[in-house]
Amino acid sequence: MFKKILIANRGEIAIRIIRACQELNIETVAIYSEADRNSLHVSLADEAYCIGPQVSSASYLNIPNIISAALISRAEAIHPGYGFLAENTRFAEICNQHNIHFIGPAPQVLRIMGDKAGAREFLKDKIPIVPGSNQLDSLEKALKIAGEIGYPVLLKAALGGGGKGMRIISTPAELESLWSIIKAEAKVSFGDGRVYLEKHISNPRHIEVQVLGDKSGKIIHLGERECSIQRRNQKLIEESPAPKLDKRIKEQIYSAALACAKAIGYTSAGTVEFLLNDKGNFYFIEMNTRVQVEHPVTELVTNIDIVKEQIKIAAGLPIDINQKDIVLKGHAIECRINAEDYTNNFTPVTGKIESIHLPGGPGIRVDTHLYPGLFVSPYYDSLLAKLIAWGRDREEARVRMLRALQEFSINGISTIIPFHIKALKSEIFKEGLLNTNFINNLL
Ligand code: ADP
Ligand code: ADP
Ligand code: MG
Repeated sequence: MFKKILIANRGEIAIRIIRACQELNIETVAIYSEADRNSLHVSLADEAYCIGPQVSSASYLNIPNIISAALISRAEAIHPGYGFLAENTRFAEICNQHNIHFIGPAPQVLRIMGDKAGAREFLKDKIPIVPGSNQLDSLEKALKIAGEIGYPVLLKAALGGGGKGMRIISTPAELESLWSIIKAEAKVSFGDGRVYLEKHISNPRHIEVQVLGDKSGKIIHLGERECSIQRRNQKLIEESPAPKLDKRIKEQIYSAALACAKAIGYTSAGTVEFLLNDKGNFYFIEMNTRVQVEHPVTELVTNIDIVKEQIKIAAGLPIDINQKDIVLKGHAIECRINAEDYTNNFTPVTGKIESIHLPGGPGIRVDTHLYPGLFVSPYYDSLLAKLIAWGRDREEARVRMLRALQEFSINGISTIIPFHIKALKSEIFKEGLLNTNFINNLL
């Protein structure tokens, strides 16, 4: 097992990884930007290094500085968390060149799955994918394929993520006028202007499967998560298991996820994402080759620590869990507590945390980097905390979540706690009739 790990991230996920390391008796090295000097992940780690100014491009994305911090501290491995460099092939390769273990799958797996158009091409004969195209090299080709699959279509950035880099297109004229703009936007946001098309599926459910693979070739899944409650194509509420999902479809989705992980020779924790339409057809959209924001709901229903598994796998240890022993017990729900004004289109807000009270009690988990006095800056994403509730069944989890949301107080900044209370009290949520149009129907 590793003696020391550097955590190339910030916020709640850096703390989540530090906690896993502490349980595995591994020393931790934090990195931080100048804006994060007083962050909780810095004080909870055994050592910490400043790796640059506040903007991510100069700090959390600064590969030479991060590698230097790992070499100076003699860390044997780097855990990238999610976002930032987590799915960056070049970063994983550079780690390897310096004999530092990258905690994630092999670079060639990142290369294929990190490019969403490439992943579609790789999987098209293996599992159902959304009707669409490969990477598009010309507007003419885009118009031809959009005409074949039928409008509306989604034009998506090959390297997009976090819900960013996709636009609905309803007519050929719109495709013509937006083509160059969207490619330029993709280039600015993701450093790569490549785009591809997908049929726009109307009001689908987002169902994803957590997988684990080790270096001996063993691959298992830890069941599904329902993540249909989204704003701007990014999740706000996730749960496991998915409510009211036909058992037969569920088994087919598990098989497709395993087929995907096996085909690529997956070695780490990963997530295979699907959209399910109202006719019961499901389609692959992407594989996230990293720990997912919503991994705690799976941890609560399986009792498996996904971050510890990731670290053990990277160290070459086998997965000592068998598929037949994976039974989803009870029900878990996660609410992402973002610093946003939900009455104003979920616009991010900034401010200083004056005081907080975290909820607790039976079945409640809070993953957060908040503390009184923290300044929430505009430089990073708006996630302040994840509130996760477990119950013996969905209704108990829902009631516990509501109780905890009502107890949670954060003063000094607006959060979307009031939105979550409204969502969890709604009849549609109670009934478990979810799709990606949930928020439009609610507000
Ligand atoms: P998840 O996929 O784990 O459900 P998100 O889509 O919200 O979660 O992404 C988690 C974080 O990672 C967000 O801060 C998001 O901006 C960032 N992120 C994810 N994918 C990318 C990407 N391809 N490029 C840049 N940032 C990304
Ligand atoms: P990201 O890399 O940003 O996570 P995804 O491709 O996983 O992007 O899609 C994020 C969300 O966007 C999905 O959960 C879904 O709500 C919406 N979406 C993506 N592709 C489609 C599609 N073809 N039709 C309808 N909605 C889609
Ligand atoms: Mg996704």
